Amino acid sequence: MSIIMPRPKKYRLIGETPLALYFKPRGIPLRDLEEIELSLDELETIKLKDLKGLNQEECAKRMQISRATFARILRSARKKIARFLLEAKALKIDEKVRLINARKYRCLECLKEFEIRAGKNVRSTVCPFCGSDKFESLHKILWR
Ligand SMILES: [Zn+2]
Repeated sequence: MSIIMPRPKKYRLIGETPLALYFKPRGIPLRDLEEIELSLDELETIKLKDLKGLNQEECAKRMQISRATFARILRSARKKIARFLLEAKALKIDEKVRLINARKYRCLECLKEFEIRAGKNVRSTVCPFCGSDKFESLHKILWR
């Protein structure tokens, strides 16, 4: 009996991209700093797990990746951030990935996901579950 491996998903789902993309310690010139590059999916794991406090299964579901993959990305992200803080490095968010608007949105109040049909005005839309007008668009990040 042969085991058919499921084909890996070609993307990961992430929420809004960060407001700032570069961080450096004060007092050290940029040319003397080593850069650490944090990818958008690494940042997303930190956002979901450490900032929002979701459990690992929920986080993986939101990014549409396996729990093992989520755990691996999270480990890598935490290590990079620890090095940034402790070894006086510069931290750069890698935004050179291809982002595709997934036409999906996530409510920031009730955290449920929903879609907005093409042609519908996003600004006049509210969450179909709780009526909140605070939601973020989700993006697909193409697997490099
Ligand atoms: Zn809602």
